[in-house]
Amino acid sequence: MITIDGSEGEGGGQMVRNALALSLVTDQPFRIDNIRANRSKSGLMRQHVTAIEAACAIGSAVCEGVAVGARSIVFKPGRIVAGDYRFAVGTAGSAGLVLQTILPPLLLADRPSRLTIEGGTHNTHAPPFDFIDRTYLPLLRRMGPLVTARLVRHGFYPAGGGRIDIEIEPAPLMPVDLIERGNPVDVGATAVMALLDDDIGMRELASARAILDWPESAFRLERLSNPVGPGNVLLLEAVFEHVTEIVTGFGQLGVPAQSIGSQAATRMLGYLNSAAFAGPYLADQLLLPMAMAGRGTFTTVSPTKHTQTAADIIRRFLDAAIRFDRHPNGAFLVTIGT
Ligand code: ATP
Repeated sequence: MITIDGSEGEGGGQMVRNALALSLVTDQPFRIDNIRANRSKSGLMRQHVTAIEAACAIGSAVCEGVAVGARSIVFKPGRIVAGDYRFAVGTAGSAGLVLQTILPPLLLADRPSRLTIEGGTHNTHAPPFDFIDRTYLPLLRRMGPLVTARLVRHGFYPAGGGRIDIEIEPAPLMPVDLIERGNPVDVGATAVMALLDDDIGMRELASARAILDWPESAFRLERLSNPVGPGNVLLLEAVFEHVTEIVTGFGQLGVPAQSIGSQAATRMLGYLNSAAFAGPYLADQLLLPMAMAGRGTFTTVSPTKHTQTAADIIRRFLDAAIRFDRHPNGAFLVTIGT
């Protein structure tokens, strides 16, 4: 059995999700201890428990020790069964992170699946729906499987109550080389507002605009009708021929709207000023499907600890060499292959 020390590397929930997906994909059981040891409140949180339960459901798996707060689990995978599934986090925990766990195995199933996942759709420290839909899934489709996502309802912290629907048509994963982003096609900045004052969004947009050299028409405010609870997200989107990068800022009590706008814009500027294909979050999320495809390359900004840790977990389950080198264009080149 593979044993993982959850305190190594990044030491967060991503290690559990990647291990679950890899265990199902490779049919190898694992044990993980010291779960989320590097977080102030260590152990499994509600959203991780939902991800484990979802992995058990789609993978006929058995899991020992699953409970909120648990620091060790043992996971024994079974047969991957495609079908119609509904999972609810039960809190505002991220629906997208549940998807991250069960999508890789369902890509290998013998028939299509349809998923409904309820919880948060726009959370800090998680891929927001827009990133899944317009950044991540187009690249997965380029690798073969036809996966589409629909945002049925927004869900923000603390009320949650959001919903995403996913359709998955499996196909063998083909290696891809994602080196150049291509010519710029479009840019957009949207402040999404749920039951909050427009003024907050306007200040976010204004401070982002002061940093990004984007036309005035690219900046817009979107008011949600009938939201489940209050919330706000600023989405900065840069569309290139071969990739779309989405940087998000989240409205938070006590954080001035101006700094949310300027921080997000500064991060977007960092990406735009690099020659990288993948931003920091896309990088850690691309590794797993590329490793499943057996080979692939992509350029990225400076690899994060999340990315390095995802690579470490992949190496535990798959005979995959993952290298990080400097690319002549100044970005980092990630090479996945045996
Ligand atoms: P914790 O850090 O509390 O253990 P966690 O389980 O929520 O918690 P992480 O281990 O931090 O998660 O992993 C977060 C995942 O969400 C990573 O795959 C990261 O790429 C992704 N992510 C975080 N923020 C964004 C963002 N703004 N856009 C896209 N993806 C994001």
